[in-house]
Amino acid sequence: MHEMGIAYSVLAAVRTEAARCPDKAPRKVGVRIGEMSALDPDALRFCFEAITRDTDLAGLELDIEICPFRYRCRECGHEFVVQDYQSQCPQCASLETECIGGQELDLVYLEVEEYGAATAGTKSTQ
Ligand SMILES: [Zn+2]
Repeated sequence: MHEMGIAYSVLAAVRTEAARCPDKAPRKVGVRIGEMSALDPDALRFCFEAITRDTDLAGLELDIEICPFRYRCRECGHEFVVQDYQSQCPQCASLETECIGGQELDLVYLEVEEYGAATAGTKSTQ
């Protein structure tokens, strides 16, 4: 399944990020995924849940942002969103265009929480 591979990529990114603050628990992760990957966000959530279920990352919330497939014209510099795979510049009709977006798979942010912060309100002294 396509989404499963992406779920593992996201998980790897979360692990890398979480390793920087080992004393905090990841709560929510924001990812930006290009439209080109033709991803089903619900399927990705499902896969991600499946691979984190029995780990310390169980319950980690996934915030998915889909980026449209974008091109830039090399002739006039116009940037546009591609529809129906038409990569021709809508402004000057040039075919000299290049892809500038829609292939992303980025981790945008990782929300972490102090372990034991569930009992909020009590500020740790030292
Ligand atoms: Zn153009």
